[in-house]
Amino acid sequence: MSLLSVIVPCYNEEASVALFYEELIKNDPFLKEHEIELELLYIDDGSRDATVEEVKKLRQMDERVHLVSFSRNFGKEAAMFAGMEKSKGDYVVIMDVDLQDPPSLLPKMFEGIWEGYDSVATRRVDRKGEPPIRSFFARMFYRLMKKISKTEMMDGARDYRLMRRQMVDAILSMREYNRFTKGIFGWVGFRTKWLEYENVERARGETKWNFWKLLMYSFDGIMAFSTAPLMISSVMGVIMCLVAFVLIIFIIVRKLIFGDPVSGWPSLVCIILMPSGIQFFCTGILGHYLAKTYMEVKARPIYLVREEL
Ligand code: UDP
Ligand code: MG
Repeated sequence: MSLLSVIVPCYNEEASVALFYEELIKNDPFLKEHEIELELLYIDDGSRDATVEEVKKLRQMDERVHLVSFSRNFGKEAAMFAGMEKSKGDYVVIMDVDLQDPPSLLPKMFEGIWEGYDSVATRRVDRKGEPPIRSFFARMFYRLMKKISKTEMMDGARDYRLMRRQMVDAILSMREYNRFTKGIFGWVGFRTKWLEYENVERARGETKWNFWKLLMYSFDGIMAFSTAPLMISSVMGVIMCLVAFVLIIFIIVRKLIFGDPVSGWPSLVCIILMPSGIQFFCTGILGHYLAKTYMEVKARPIYLVREEL
């Protein structure tokens, strides 16, 4: 017998908990046939609704259901990490509770594992049902990441992924505080097979992400997996020096030939304003990296558990 751990992060998802369970156990015959046991870990990310009670109800019916409840909302990244840490399975899969990661794909994912892959990941081929502006920025983000980061990140990739234990342990060895799992999956490597499917809309409840949160999340992702922004100040500095050099020569030559005094404070104002703007901008970027470093150095725990069943 081998064991499959299903990790399900939940934040205010009382309406979806039972629905997800029903959908997942449709795989029971398949799992039984292939002698795979199941453990289902609901990670409650500090929900303020009845999510915990819903999970406890399920646990009374089915011993395979487990609960880890956080002391507050730590974010999905932390929930996924906690799930992996608590899981005991030879195989681990992460799924959203809102059924946007269809549990019916599991048999197909296992085929990939049996073909010899270390992990089977999924990506959406379309972004149906998503605001166009959100899709546009998402595409831009992946295109930018491809240019400035060595870590591979697939456009439309979801966190829905089946992994062998070896890969999970590799991910767990990365104990960074600022977690960007989409990048971490790529960073650890291993042989990954990609499954594509069409976007499924959320079954119940509503998304926890708005545009602003996603934008901030993308900045985190860039900073976690690229130091390219730090190059901006060096590049700007070089460009500024070149411009200054050309200007100096121009002014000296003009003075020698025409002898006019250097006039005009407008040019001076521009010269002062632009470089100081750029300097602030670059200091800001530096500051962000420093802030991230500060959080890492503190080495705070990634999550805190309030209750565990
Ligand atoms: N989630 C979480 N903590 C959070 C936000 C979300 O555990 O702070 C969970 C949520 O319950 C769901 C999954 O992460 O199972 C994906 O969230 P959501 O569906 O809101 O994101 P979307 O699919 O819209 O990108
Ligand atoms: Mg969702």
